[in-house]
Amino acid sequence: MSWRERPRTALLSSIIVGGGPGGLGPLVWAAQHGHLPGWLDEGVAIVERSGRLGGSLGRYGINSDSLGGSYLECLAPDVVPESLRRMRDEPVAHEMAVYREAYPPLPLVDRYISRIGIAMTEILDEHPASALHLHTEARSVHLRSDGSVAVLVHGPDGRTRPLVAQSAVVAVGGHQPWRDQSLLGLRFADCKARLMPSNDLLSHAGLAEANTVIGMAGDRRIVILGGSHSAYAVAWALLELPAAARLKTGQVVIVQRRPPRVFYPDQAAADADSYLVHPGDVCQRTRRVNRMGGLRGHGRDIWRRIMARPGCEPETRIAILDVADLDADGLRSLMDEAALVAPCLGYRSATLPIIDEAGHRLALRADANGDAVGDDCRLVLADGSVLPNVYGIGLGTGFRPSLAMGCEPNFSGQANSLWLYQNDIGATIYRGIHEKKVEVPNDVPSSRPASHLRGTHPMPIP
Ligand SMILES: Cc1cc2nc3c(=O)[nH]c(=O)nc-3n(C[C@H](O)[C@H](O)[C@H](O)COP(=O)(O)OP(=O)(O)OC[C@H]3O[C@@H](n4cnc5c(N)ncnc54)[C@H](O)[C@@H]3O)c2cc1C
Repeated sequence: MSWRERPRTALLSSIIVGGGPGGLGPLVWAAQHGHLPGWLDEGVAIVERSGRLGGSLGRYGINSDSLGGSYLECLAPDVVPESLRRMRDEPVAHEMAVYREAYPPLPLVDRYISRIGIAMTEILDEHPASALHLHTEARSVHLRSDGSVAVLVHGPDGRTRPLVAQSAVVAVGGHQPWRDQSLLGLRFADCKARLMPSNDLLSHAGLAEANTVIGMAGDRRIVILGGSHSAYAVAWALLELPAAARLKTGQVVIVQRRPPRVFYPDQAAADADSYLVHPGDVCQRTRRVNRMGGLRGHGRDIWRRIMARPGCEPETRIAILDVADLDADGLRSLMDEAALVAPCLGYRSATLPIIDEAGHRLALRADANGDAVGDDCRLVLADGSVLPNVYGIGLGTGFRPSLAMGCEPNFSGQANSLWLYQNDIGATIYRGIHEKKVEVPNDVPSSRPASHLRGTHPMPIP
């Protein structure tokens, strides 16, 4: 009998693949609501390729676009386990508190999340049913005929073995599929200029390289493709570089399809900034303007300066071009003659191969750069059916928050927010896992649901 069909001995509740902010999210939600000890007693395995929990935010040389206070929230509830509570009095939490109403540098956010990871490790140690597997790479997820899930992992001892659980959470981060992307029919991959997608450019090494490129640019342009968070974060970061002092009026060009939406704490603040608010921009739960989709942090600051909003110094080095005002030839010469082109057109989640009971690899919607998950955070196959026991969370999954989660009606993008991972999205996954235990007998033929099951697990909002 192969491991695929071996009876369920020591069946875990959940295997979380990836110990970044996404993978930690449901655990942090459970900690805030008093459910973590119970879940860990059911058995949770965290599988992380690197030697630490915390993820990859430390590689970026920019500031967060979330307030420091949003990172501190998860330590506040009385019910959080002692290891997390202790963090409140530690230097990293005090450092974060300095940014309670400001935007902390991402390396600080990374140290803070990594410290949460250490606390989580201590908590895991108190629950023998659970385990942390560092330096361990998940290679594939296998659906078993009894509805459980096996994750094949490759450990530091060089051996590959299965971990078996009732459910798996895939949280392996995101990537930018810019090589497949094009604008006005022009493939970015064919561009003749130096090309740096925002994910590379915003790294510490990428910013150093961009500084060199700008220093040697002469009159050539710097072209930013995209009109949302990443694009404006890139614009801000480039202008902070020492070499940017030499840039001339309009030498940095943002090419965007539509103007970005901008966050305001309320309608009055938007009015005071002469920002036109449409009724659908207002979150019904919080009354905030563009709560999910609006520019925040330094991206918002630079937008305000480009637009010469009240009380800020106008920024003339950046010009904004509407794609509609360009044709393919115009865009091609703009890109080819530029010193640097930065595609900033969003993220897609990385995936793992998902193998069915017969040993066939399933086509995921994410494999074709579609949204990886549906409303209930379960992974979606290319044919639209949903895997009942495999969840996705983290950068680029394409999760669309509901209005009840505090989303403005006009928002149609995906939410990539650490706070959401630790709150509404984490809650959705925890509830999904716990409402649907795998108690099916071994003769049930398939763990794949019929597509009509899609969306049959609406989650109450906390
Ligand atoms: C430039 C940038 C700035 C951002 N700023 C903010 C912000 O200010 N506020 C905010 O809320 N969000 C922000 N985000 C969005 C998001 O919160 C972060 O990207 C966050 O790091 C996503 O967490 P993650 O767990 O999905 O990915 P990651 O942080 O990349 O973590 C994935 C983890 O999975 C592990 N892994 C990968 N493959 C495997 C495998 N096969 N087996 C085992 N382990 C594996 C990796 O080692 C890693 O630890 C930002 C994103 C970017 C790109």
